Amino acid sequence: MKKIIILPLLLFTYFSIGQTSQKIYDIIDSVSAKRIEKDIQTLVSFGTRNTFSDTISNTRGIGAARRWIKSEFETISKNCNNCLNVFYQKDFVNKDGNNRVPHDAWVVNVVAVQKGTKYPNRYIIMSGDIDSRASDTMDFTTDAPGANDNASGMAGTIEAARVLSNYQFESSIVYVGLSGEEQGLFGGSGLANYTKENNWDIIGILNNDMIGNIKGVDGVIDNRTFRIFSEPVPANETERERQLRRFYGGEVDGISRQLARYVHKTVKTYMPEMNPMMVYRLDRFGRGGHHRPFNDLGFAGIRIMEAHENYNQQHQDIREENGIKYGDVIDHVNFEYAKKLTAVNAINMASLASAPPAPKNVAIGGIVEPSAKFKWDKVEGAIGYKIYWRDTTSPTWDYSRYVGDVSEFTLEGIVIDNFFFGIAAVGKDGFESPVVFPNKVFR
Ligand SMILES: [Zn+2]
Repeated sequence: MKKIIILPLLLFTYFSIGQTSQKIYDIIDSVSAKRIEKDIQTLVSFGTRNTFSDTISNTRGIGAARRWIKSEFETISKNCNNCLNVFYQKDFVNKDGNNRVPHDAWVVNVVAVQKGTKYPNRYIIMSGDIDSRASDTMDFTTDAPGANDNASGMAGTIEAARVLSNYQFESSIVYVGLSGEEQGLFGGSGLANYTKENNWDIIGILNNDMIGNIKGVDGVIDNRTFRIFSEPVPANETERERQLRRFYGGEVDGISRQLARYVHKTVKTYMPEMNPMMVYRLDRFGRGGHHRPFNDLGFAGIRIMEAHENYNQQHQDIREENGIKYGDVIDHVNFEYAKKLTAVNAINMASLASAPPAPKNVAIGGIVEPSAKFKWDKVEGAIGYKIYWRDTTSPTWDYSRYVGDVSEFTLEGIVIDNFFFGIAAVGKDGFESPVVFPNKVFR
């Protein structure tokens, strides 16, 4: 008799107290604004980090910058018993046919991989950029400090490695500095192709590009809000997928959008002082970033960045004109804010790398029936599954039900027509996979 009473009590305790993880709070507290400041200072000290700048000098140019980043990752690795595999990944770009390439050069990325203990071939990636630019993107000699664009994202990536390398995770985490961003997203393309050729199972990429400015060109000062950009549906979807969507929905439910919702939810749970703002577009209007080459290959990828940009402090030679100071100098970077956005990345990578893989073959049924029905393939490592749903006009997964370790379920009285649905896998510590939007229909 006693056993029957204790078991439900234990389950109740687990799911009410187990909603948040102390580890995640510890990770937030470990991120250091001081270290981020120091790293941005170092990156700025290389004068210019234009992808086509000097590669020989040890004090100026992109060569010095990438060697320093590599040595930082190697130092972090030494402190965690060689837990990082650090290497250069590079591709050659030709001047011919590229009107923003001043001369042939190697585009070199610096990669640090923290191998997962259970799923070493599953990867969550955080990226910043090594390179910077002056007013003229072809100008590889003029000073281009790129303190916010994008030493901030690079420093945040290095700091995330410092913090997360103190832990072990089931899936692999990748910290990467990308080059060639300003001339055509070359570094991101190179790494995306590399991961595809090596059959990496990519959970997603969190691309950080400008995470340190809190004073907008419009005068707004805001150290709480940040943006999460995500494309609606994969760029490489098939024509058939596009047609089916017309009847079954999913216009705002691609894999990158689910990753954006995941980040939004994690931040709302663990960093309630922050104000994550999902933007339903690939990137800023007509502008680009290094998550896109990953999206191009069908991988989930989002851009995390400040909410209020200052265009006088991006892609500008340092100068003063009509009383306006131009240039991306370090005085404009808010290190406490960069620390917050670094923590946003760290806790999402920790959560995703602690969670089981997302369920596959998620099917939905219930046409002309009173209840929506679901079937999915179980995944190894999950202790159960959570069905999420929301009003069709809502951006966030507002309703959920934990359904235990089953592979089908009927949501009694919830009509399929009136909501969007998705399913996540739940691991033993309560960490969840991204939500999967159904990709099959059954009767
Ligand atoms: Zn830029």
